[in-house]
Amino acid sequence: MDFRLTEEQQMVRETVRSFVKRELLPLEGEVLRNEREGKPGIERGQLRQLQLKAKELGFWGINTPEEYGGANLGPIMSAIVGIELAHTFVPFAFGGSADNILYYCNEEQKQRYLLPTISGERRSCFALTEPGAGSDAANIQMSAVKDGDHWVLNGEKVFITNGNEADFTMVFAVTDREKGAHGGVTCFLVDREMGWHSSYIPTMGEWGPASLYFENVRVPEKNILGELNQGFNLGMQWIGAGRWAIACRAIGAAERLLQMGIDYSKQRVTFGKPIADRQAIQWMLADSHVEIEATRWLALHAAWLAEEGEDTRHASSIAKLYGATMANRVVDRVLQIHGGMGYTKELPIERWYRELRLFRIFEGTDEIQHYIIARNLLRGHVRVEDGL
Ligand SMILES: Cc1cc2nc3c(=O)[nH]c(=O)nc-3n(C[C@H](O)[C@H](O)[C@H](O)COP(=O)(O)OP(=O)(O)OC[C@H]3O[C@@H](n4cnc5c(N)ncnc54)[C@H](O)[C@@H]3O)c2cc1C
Repeated sequence: MDFRLTEEQQMVRETVRSFVKRELLPLEGEVLRNEREGKPGIERGQLRQLQLKAKELGFWGINTPEEYGGANLGPIMSAIVGIELAHTFVPFAFGGSADNILYYCNEEQKQRYLLPTISGERRSCFALTEPGAGSDAANIQMSAVKDGDHWVLNGEKVFITNGNEADFTMVFAVTDREKGAHGGVTCFLVDREMGWHSSYIPTMGEWGPASLYFENVRVPEKNILGELNQGFNLGMQWIGAGRWAIACRAIGAAERLLQMGIDYSKQRVTFGKPIADRQAIQWMLADSHVEIEATRWLALHAAWLAEEGEDTRHASSIAKLYGATMANRVVDRVLQIHGGMGYTKELPIERWYRELRLFRIFEGTDEIQHYIIARNLLRGHVRVEDGL
């Protein structure tokens, strides 16, 4: 068992770390100002420029196969990269990527959806959740009814990330009501021009998802992604891929926040001593570090399972549950360490405080992760004494 990063992994980590320091950290003030004026943190054009700079360093298509021009670094490298990028709240992601399920496109669909998404010409969104079906995704009601060589879609989706900006959506609808999620849901690729529209949902975070409305939207049969009635599995594949990645983002944010807590506690003097000398503060710092390190190994282990082609579901749920709650505990402690200053908008802590709260909700709430973990134990899918 070797816990050290390989030389290549260390090199990638250092390169991303210096990219974040050089290119992203200087933008933080501007991002905060923009967001507080209700504008996007960075404009699409600026994001594109940054992505092209990163491309020169080889960071393009982190998870994209080489045949599509990607670096295809694999899950462990992605985890390492994800942790580093999360050291800043600047809303940046490397370019050259597409949703994992878009690789189910057939040759003709690849030209219209997969390739333009990888190149950044088109933007996608993943639309599963509905007003009456979030955690209980199997209960979606959006209907798709066959009419000649088209399907007619009716219904509403909510909380769709990028739903207001996307050029097309991967939307899930019921094509066989009797079977429902067990062989009766289909995923459709639907261009905005086909007739769906969206509205922005303001949230406590700095950006908002969207509601998507479908009223008799006619979608050609050739726009089915994957196979008819096999869409629910695609939806679960999309969600499953994100869970340990959220734990990585939690680690990066918590590392940066903890460092802020360490620095501030050494300089803030009360009753004649730096607050860092007080046990109450030291325990908050120590607990935070313990929990960050615990999350690191949970997330890297889940990434390693993915790299080995093994089932990651149980490990991902553990990493996501622990990571999401850890980051919320850490940001709360660091805000506390900063006292009144932590509560102001002068510092970005309050921004993280609001953003990290989402980690406990999307891609499976805390309660759903608990449910999955307990179900696997109770049904004997996982044996406690075998570890992960
Ligand atoms: C900012 C944001 C972005 C999102 N992006 C997307 C996206 O891009 N695409 C998409 O399809 N969806 C997206 N979602 C939706 C997200 O996945 C759902 O909000 C989430 O799955 C929870 O569903 P819900 O909101 O309907 O809550 P509900 O399912 O109604 O749950 C309400 C509460 O009850 C609890 N609960 C539910 N069932 C049980 C149970 N069986 N046992 C115990 N407790 C239970 C939940 O944990 C929660 O605390 C996004 C959500 C947000 C807020």
